[in-house]
Amino acid sequence: MILLNSEKLVESAKEAREHACSDISGFKVGAALLTKSGSIFLGCNIEDPSGIGVTNICAVRCAIIKALSEGHRDFEALAVVGGTDDLVSCTPCGVCRQYLNSFCRDITIICLENGEIREYTINELLPHPFSETFQHYPPTLPQG
Ligand code: ZN
Repeated sequence: MILLNSEKLVESAKEAREHACSDISGFKVGAALLTKSGSIFLGCNIEDPSGIGVTNICAVRCAIIKALSEGHRDFEALAVVGGTDDLVSCTPCGVCRQYLNSFCRDITIICLENGEIREYTINELLPHPFSETFQHYPPTLPQG
């Protein structure tokens, strides 16, 4: 178990933000995902310059994909920061909240809001997620 240092993880997210490809929106986002073994995966938002919005990827999913693709499955916390010039309040978008619920359900989600560090659970940010259990819905009705 890694002792969570929220300030350090926010600083890592700020560093990741510097690599954002955000010429379209100008809104730079950085994320830092801490594994239970102590590794940190960084992510930034990457906007496709073609303007096809669906091909953009958020900083949060960028960090998660990097970690998953290198075999990591146990996560401790994620920090996310964002803004145009200065940092503003930034929480994961709806798609990323679903992704966090699917792959990082029990982590602490650290957001910088008005300069203050706020910590959330995924249940607070996404109280009614789509769940893998829905794939078995509707239940098989009894015969006869
Ligand atoms: Zn997102």
